[in-house]
Amino acid sequence: MTIPQEVLDLVLVEEDRYEGDDHDAAEVALPSPRLAEDAACGPVRTLGPDSAAPDEAAEVAPEEQPEAPLGGAGAAGGGAAAAAAPPAVALVTVSHLAGVPLRYERGQPFGPTSFRVNLAFLSTLEDTVRVVTARAPEQFGPLQNLVSAGMLVVKPGMHGLGRACDWDCWRFRHVEIAPVRRDHASDSRAVRRRYWALAALCRSQSAYVLHAEFNAAHQDHIHQDNGATMPFDANSGTAVKLVQAVCNEIFDASPRLSVDGSFGQKTRDAVTAALQTVHLDGDLSDGAIWRKFLRRAGRLGFTLSV
Ligand SMILES: [Zn+2]
Repeated sequence: MTIPQEVLDLVLVEEDRYEGDDHDAAEVALPSPRLAEDAACGPVRTLGPDSAAPDEAAEVAPEEQPEAPLGGAGAAGGGAAAAAAPPAVALVTVSHLAGVPLRYERGQPFGPTSFRVNLAFLSTLEDTVRVVTARAPEQFGPLQNLVSAGMLVVKPGMHGLGRACDWDCWRFRHVEIAPVRRDHASDSRAVRRRYWALAALCRSQSAYVLHAEFNAAHQDHIHQDNGATMPFDANSGTAVKLVQAVCNEIFDASPRLSVDGSFGQKTRDAVTAALQTVHLDGDLSDGAIWRKFLRRAGRLGFTLSV
């Protein structure tokens, strides 16, 4: 490990302070994805620990079709999407998340916009914004806007329910975290660290998080939805690849891991070392450890990047 002790000390002090405040209480109140799935949407995906459905197939499903963003100036489009969605789904139109303006920058209308999103997912998104901004170092400056490639989109899966968001860019005053510019593959270690810190923090709020190492379709955005359960699953390709990339880019895993989605011995050893680095006892199968690991990794990645 080449992480300076003073950086680690700062990260741990700040995380201890954060874990004691009100944010956790709010997150505990999030609806369970399983309940939301049952109550609102029907079995769009077969999910849950008792499911025989291959996780990987479930992960691939939401992104197979090209996306047409809806909302904002496209009010007619939003209506069409509402008609296509099950009637029990409560959709709202949002122009801000936790007070931060939303933008669309992949076409027209380019600029500030609003998106249609499922009410049950809105709290996940707003908590994600709070969790990320609470960890952004002062050097980032304030979070000025959030660029999304789409939330409610007419297609099967979680986008069709308004329970997914594609992140193109998180724009702080002095720093941009830009999946749309393939930050994961940047020559800059700092840029890569920020990308994986953001992905880890998104994953601390919901599953799935589909990132650039998951598959080619996600190399220019980070997809976040709340269709699956929170705990770490060693059979989830996207979760294991996230852990492997975080170990490489944030924790300086040595030897460097191949990001292959296989939770083998080298990955287990790297995780053990990373958990020790951030003073966590236990393993990722413990939901509380998993969430703390993601959050500490996120804060550490951000702090190391400035
Ligand atoms: Zn997506």
